[in-house]
Amino acid sequence: MGCETHDYLYIGACNVLVGEELLKVLEAWRCRACGAVLAGERPMGPISSTDGILGSIPPNSGERWLVVARQGVGSLPPDAIAVRASPGSRISVDAADPDDSHLIVKQDWSVVREADGSPPRTLRTYDLLSVLKGYIDLSVWPPKAFTLQPGGPRQL
Ligand SMILES: [Zn+2]
Repeated sequence: MGCETHDYLYIGACNVLVGEELLKVLEAWRCRACGAVLAGERPMGPISSTDGILGSIPPNSGERWLVVARQGVGSLPPDAIAVRASPGSRISVDAADPDDSHLIVKQDWSVVREADGSPPRTLRTYDLLSVLKGYIDLSVWPPKAFTLQPGGPRQL
């Protein structure tokens, strides 16, 4: 059951970097009462109070926040966005390889291309909660992802 008003507690941020340049910050909050997870995406520069609040995933909905990291190729800049996903759902994003633009989420939360069932070449996905207290560096491909979460600092 959901709350009438969630009681959100900040759980952490993931810095999205291109080398030493901070591109944006992905963040998450969890409701202390029901466990709903709210995600946010904070670009650099001035923003309004509600800019970048992506919405809330209720508990036991079978959904998760996934981070889709994109390789920058040509005029398409590197980027990472948070999307809500569930097994069997589709994700559509701009990607350097057109066949990477339409993905299907599998039961194990990995993603494959809708076109041929193979893993995307120019995208990588992460569970948002697993990259909090960490960073994703898009200056290399595959990206360098790192977290300070319990278990010790580690490369993802
Ligand atoms: Zn709640």
